[in-house]
Amino acid sequence: DKVFNFCAGPAMIPADVLKKAQQELTDWNGLGTSVMEISHRSKEFIQVAQQSEQDLRDLLGIPDNYHVLFCHGGARAQFAAVPMNLLGDATTADYIDGGYWAHSAAEEAEKYCRPNVIDITCEKDGKRAMLPASEWPLSDEAAFVHFCPNETIDGIEIRDLPVTDKPIVADLSSTILSREIDVSKYGVIYAGAQKNIGPAGLTIVIVRDDLLGKAQTVLPSILDYSVQVDKESMFNTPPTFAWYLAGEVFKWLKSIGGVAEMQKRNEAKAKVLYDYIDQSDFYRNNIHSDNRSLMNVPFQLKDAALDALFLEQADAAGLKALKGHRVVGGMRASIYNAMPIEGVQALVDFMREFEQQHG
Ligand code: PLP
Repeated sequence: DKVFNFCAGPAMIPADVLKKAQQELTDWNGLGTSVMEISHRSKEFIQVAQQSEQDLRDLLGIPDNYHVLFCHGGARAQFAAVPMNLLGDATTADYIDGGYWAHSAAEEAEKYCRPNVIDITCEKDGKRAMLPASEWPLSDEAAFVHFCPNETIDGIEIRDLPVTDKPIVADLSSTILSREIDVSKYGVIYAGAQKNIGPAGLTIVIVRDDLLGKAQTVLPSILDYSVQVDKESMFNTPPTFAWYLAGEVFKWLKSIGGVAEMQKRNEAKAKVLYDYIDQSDFYRNNIHSDNRSLMNVPFQLKDAALDALFLEQADAAGLKALKGHRVVGGMRASIYNAMPIEGVQALVDFMREFEQQHG
């Protein structure tokens, strides 16, 4: 009877966290009221804010010279905020283009500068792949290098970091907390919360201290990292419920062993699915193994005429939202942190049965 939701977002929340939030919904912290009804400046909410920041710092090993911001606006707001905060006197920045979201970030940046867009897509062994970082032609004039390590729609992961002494800016929206990273290698990390952290409406920004203070004067205050640092992410009313729930997800992640353990689980989940696809002639994933995403697994059926039936029967079997993004077509299984391995196993069992009937 179990339902497994493979939706790319929003939002994947661990079942245990949702249960706790449900219990606390109308009486949080013994206050007789919901956490979303109390002031964001109350001592109780300030405690939530401080604890969640500390937990995220612990989980990612964020060094002291980085600020952690809890913002509005999603990753798309950051597509504008990044150039407006970081360009300074420069007129260009490098935008590594590996897929849909990196490309979208570069398009937005065109409003603020002349982005040097570097297409790193290539073909390897007949599959889609990414050029290694040593072959990315970065420009000397760039104020920063922007890239998107996990392309949610394409199902592509870029494990290389740009080889540069410029600040590296990364859109981690669909990969944050799924695997270990070294934060000290980045200038700015941002992520919409709605994949691995919490409900839509919250955006995490992690910014290195020395990058503050370069903002253009026309930059709206709400997007200005220095303002958000000064105001401790409370320049305007923050998305308090999403923030509280993110804090609960951080506690859950710590309780299961942190990001190292999460990475192990994510690798195991992805292996089950990719291994099954690879041994089958009926299903296909067209991304080279060097660049396969741990979080978003697109796959095609041999005969696209069976897509609708596959989706209908999968849905009836409790395997929800497997339709691929309209840009890519086929299927996509998003297996974020909140997806247990049982969900992936159930999907593979269903795929096997479907293949036996229609293969
Ligand atoms: N970047 C990536 C990698 C994403 O996956 C998404 C949304 O799925 C976005 C950016 C856009 O995020 P938002 O809708 O929060 O602006």
